[in-house]
Amino acid sequence: MEERADDCVFCRIVRHDAEALILCEDEHVISFLPIRPEVYGHTIICPRLHYADIYDIPSPVLSAVVDSCKSHAQHYRKKINATGVNLLHASGVDGDQSVFHFHIHLFPRVKNDGLNTWPMLPGTLVDRKQMYSEMRLG
Ligand SMILES: [Zn+2]
Repeated sequence: MEERADDCVFCRIVRHDAEALILCEDEHVISFLPIRPEVYGHTIICPRLHYADIYDIPSPVLSAVVDSCKSHAQHYRKKINATGVNLLHASGVDGDQSVFHFHIHLFPRVKNDGLNTWPMLPGTLVDRKQMYSEMRLG
């Protein structure tokens, strides 16, 4: 289920109609602190225009968002001494997306920060060659 842009909290932030601590704005991208940061430096980076998810966002806009992620990572390395970074993204209800305006969460990391942003997954017993033949692009 997709929200209309009028009802979208991230669109309201873009329009400055919702309270937010905005970190950066440019022609295509906006970044801000989430209401409840999960880690020190947790940042949400999204396009200014409303695209629901990775299936919806045009590639040039996605490139601008990813470029902004890199700029944020470089900035946080200098500014808050981050020595690593994780990018988290969800698309679709089944991908656990909660706000249906494309966005990427950036988590700055430091040595021994105790975070587990790469959870243990159950693994799967599949025929890798069959899976490969079904998944190949082109
Ligand atoms: Zn939106």
